[in-house]
Amino acid sequence: MIRFLDIHKINKPYEEFFQQKLKEVMDKGWYILGKEVTLFEENFADFCGSRHCIGVGNGLDALTLIFKAYIQLGRLEKGDEIIVPANTYIASILAILQADLVPVLVEPKLESYNIDPNLIAASITTRTKAILAVHLYGQLADMSAISSITKKNNLLLIEDAAQAHGAQNTQGFKAGNLSDASGFSFYPGKNLGALGDGGAVTTNDDALAQLVASLRNYGSEAKYHNEFIGFNSRLDEIQAAFLNVKLPDLYLDNEKRKVIANRYLSEIVNPKIVLPEFNGGSHHVFHLFVIRTENRDNLQHYLKESGIETLIHYPIPPHKQNALSAWNKLSFPITEKIHREVISIPISPVMMMDEVDFVIKILNAY
Ligand SMILES: *Cc1c(COP(=O)(O)O)cnc(C)c1O
Repeated sequence: MIRFLDIHKINKPYEEFFQQKLKEVMDKGWYILGKEVTLFEENFADFCGSRHCIGVGNGLDALTLIFKAYIQLGRLEKGDEIIVPANTYIASILAILQADLVPVLVEPKLESYNIDPNLIAASITTRTKAILAVHLYGQLADMSAISSITKKNNLLLIEDAAQAHGAQNTQGFKAGNLSDASGFSFYPGKNLGALGDGGAVTTNDDALAQLVASLRNYGSEAKYHNEFIGFNSRLDEIQAAFLNVKLPDLYLDNEKRKVIANRYLSEIVNPKIVLPEFNGGSHHVFHLFVIRTENRDNLQHYLKESGIETLIHYPIPPHKQNALSAWNKLSFPITEKIHREVISIPISPVMMMDEVDFVIKILNAY
């Protein structure tokens, strides 16, 4: 069986280094917001090219804390509308809701799966205050088109970069440094994954960085002095230590994903299968390789019978979820088509070339 994603194999080479780090943390006896978190924040800000990185509990909290901080700074207020792609992972939308803001769904482009900039203008109202751009599946959203909209309308631009660590535009700017503030996730399956939950906010805004750092830690800047109504959402010291071990390999891991993606893109030739749009260069770090086909369940069954594990990202669009029942009657035809037709095939830095050969062969024979 070709696994969809072999996380055990991804982490195995680091085992000794993880044990070493664990021992260091234990020897120090400092478990919360210690040297490893600070070091990771410096390392990851460096990696993204952003001025600040603040380690938080997970990707959902990273986005929620950005919105909460902008409310605290007076840049957003309860009830403001935030534009977000309709086909995103639900966490993007939950973050907006958790901050008492109003998500406004906009259709993606069928080819790129990212928000269609041409459809944004029609959704802007006097209450619109920000766009949450999502780099879905690892490919940068069309940030130049989106940022000209945010500039023209004086909106905040926020990135959901949870699937796009290291994705880079033509000018060499990376995800996490293409907007006012970005949220990252280090969930184990992401391109940079911890051995548990983790997340980060990156930004070039000093005031925002300071506020997020406070809000993640009870709204406190000095111990037992609380300036804000905060949260407990800190990046765990041991997870930060593990991430410090893995971060130096992120660039190479992304390159390995790209090699596989390029093979899929040039060698999968089957009129029943639609390949994802790839803008070339480093715009895409292929967190997922998502193809489309009309009879998706049939293809998934065929691949399973052939020994290839696949997943669906995602089977139900946010507006059709029970949790968001007020939206269930809304219609987003492109989003619904995507959710009906997509299937993610195996891709990872530890996938072997003979496995890639096999996936291509089986897909071409479908
Ligand atoms: C994973 C993910 C998140 C949430 O990250 P968690 O760490 O699981 O909370 C948010 N947005 C997108 C697009 C994601 O893929």
